[in-house]
Amino acid sequence: MKTKILDVRDLNKHNLEQSIVYDEAEAEAKVNAALRKIDEAAEILAGGGLVAFPTETVYGLGANAMDRTAVVKIFEAKGRPGDNPLIVHIARASNIGELTPVLTPVIIRLIDNFWPGPLTIVLKKKPDVPDVTTGGLDTVAIRMPDDPVALELINKAGCPIAAPSANISGRPSPTRGEHVVTDLEGKVDAILIGSDCRIGIESTVLDMTGDVPTILRPGIITAENIEAVIGGKVAMDPALNQRKDPSGEEGENFTPKAPGMKYTHYAPKAEMTIIEGQIDRVKKEIERLKGLNERLGLKVGVILFEEKEFIEAAHDFFARLRDLDSEGVDLILAGALSEQDGVGFAVMNRMLKSAGYKIAKV
Ligand code: AMP
Ligand code: MG
Repeated sequence: MKTKILDVRDLNKHNLEQSIVYDEAEAEAKVNAALRKIDEAAEILAGGGLVAFPTETVYGLGANAMDRTAVVKIFEAKGRPGDNPLIVHIARASNIGELTPVLTPVIIRLIDNFWPGPLTIVLKKKPDVPDVTTGGLDTVAIRMPDDPVALELINKAGCPIAAPSANISGRPSPTRGEHVVTDLEGKVDAILIGSDCRIGIESTVLDMTGDVPTILRPGIITAENIEAVIGGKVAMDPALNQRKDPSGEEGENFTPKAPGMKYTHYAPKAEMTIIEGQIDRVKKEIERLKGLNERLGLKVGVILFEEKEFIEAAHDFFARLRDLDSEGVDLILAGALSEQDGVGFAVMNRMLKSAGYKIAKV
């Protein structure tokens, strides 16, 4: 399949204004050209095709969420297991009524405070939402993204858009247009190239179908942030706190409530190990292991974030994995983040999966 690569970075007039010679008429023309490319992509979606597009979290691979045949193509292009449900993206909060019959005051407060933004809300689904979209569940995960290209695209497509991350299943999530091209060129109808993703890890997934709101996947919006808005307790899916492979056999295992959380994820091509402990010891151990492995002829990459710079770690983590893969490293040594902070916890969740839960304590 020939994939159309549509560069729409000019949609953001603010970027154009940064150029040294700024010409109002030229900027206008560039914005219009970007809008026409988004029209083209929206038509592809409305006609049952696949379009990858930027969001503020990671790039998504979209199809009409209400069109079974279109949604099946997402699973095929990504090689995604069929029981892993998709997040349905809308461009106006008021469109939520097409997907779920349930709207309580608490849900409305969540939407008012966090949308558009990186919070996905799991609710009871309406019968019209196809089973393929929800992995056979009677609930649907819904989000309104905070990216001008994504919002324009969904609006123009005129339907809710099911969109998982735009990577081959199991690979690190894509945070730059070039990552999507690497993984999906030839497998999808079009790729919209926009800005690099502002956040860099996927949305927080919050289950609102039980008695207590429960985080199924941690993200940049933390339990504390949500508690402050709803004025009540938020629980964590117990599976998030176990530090071993949730699909593994040994010992007791909690099965994650978000089906996607049980799969191997974000795996770089290189072997990866996390070094955990007091920061100076971690640095020393990384240096020691790096030297040792290099003497054995291996190419070693290091991921070590500044202490407490969790937002930056979230922003850079997946891109670092992909960069190290392109450099052809054999081994990645990564320093663990403190998990006390909610955002640190969210990044560690991805780091543990990338390393296949291999941790060395120092
Ligand atoms: P991705 O689309 O790659 O960002 O992954 C979406 C995540 O949301 C996966 O972990 C899914 O299992 C989870 N998810 C989507 N829909 C639901 C749902 N209805 N109930 C529980 N988890 C869901
Ligand atoms: Mg994903």
